[in-house]
Amino acid sequence: MIDLNLFAKILANDNSGYIEPGDVLTEEAVSLLSDPQWKISKVISLFKKHCWEGKELSVAVICPICGQIEMRPLTKSQTLKYLNFIRKQRTGSIPQDEIDKWCCTKCAAQRQKARKKIEQKRKQSVLLAKAKATKEFINYFLDPKKKWAIEPCKWWITLVNHYVLADEHIIAKYIRQMPYSEFLKTPYWLAVAQRVKYDAKFRCQVCGSKENLNCHHRSYEYLGYEITHRSELICLCQNCHQLFHDATQKNKEGAKG
Ligand SMILES: [Zn+2]
Ligand SMILES: [Zn+2]
Ligand SMILES: [Zn+2]
Repeated sequence: MIDLNLFAKILANDNSGYIEPGDVLTEEAVSLLSDPQWKISKVISLFKKHCWEGKELSVAVICPICGQIEMRPLTKSQTLKYLNFIRKQRTGSIPQDEIDKWCCTKCAAQRQKARKKIEQKRKQSVLLAKAKATKEFINYFLDPKKKWAIEPCKWWITLVNHYVLADEHIIAKYIRQMPYSEFLKTPYWLAVAQRVKYDAKFRCQVCGSKENLNCHHRSYEYLGYEITHRSELICLCQNCHQLFHDATQKNKEGAKG
């Protein structure tokens, strides 16, 4: 059915615009106003200019999915956006990112549900992949019996590439329950220590010696998180390393005593 009121206004052709707040834009009116043969400026000129503050039209919004019509209160700018959407739809290019805005309540709920399902599946597969990567990381990098088959210069990058896919907290927990002497034999620790020595240009960071280099934990607060807390580690020669441990031992005894 044609909106006769609207037509009367258009036919009257007065310059103040035809469409006023409170008007009802029926399906036919929407069809008329979104006809691609009309220039957009012409459509805009049909709306009265200065009386829209806080006011709305009642617009027949046609669901782009199921075609159901819902009468919705829309402001002037929302109405123009809607008309533009329909215009594009009629020329065969539906703006995908606006479908949610204009589809009916039922279709919107269905789309929301479908999106949630996809998101859930995605999250689940991310978790599964992470769990798998963590297991593989532990099996390989934290096995004291495993030996690297590649040159030391590639240890660190190989380690980090696998670490980023795994769960850092599970790895740290695993490291913390290992006997420390076993931990020191793991490919993980060998790679970390190698990297710390490389950063120190293979010199003791206290005396500059190049002999018998060790990697030392300044504290054990970040034990198991060495990859992301490399500054907690220091490259020392055997002698300086011993001095550090003697000093720590004395401090502990001092604190006790
Ligand atoms: Zn629908
Ligand atoms: Zn030294
Ligand atoms: Zn140490």
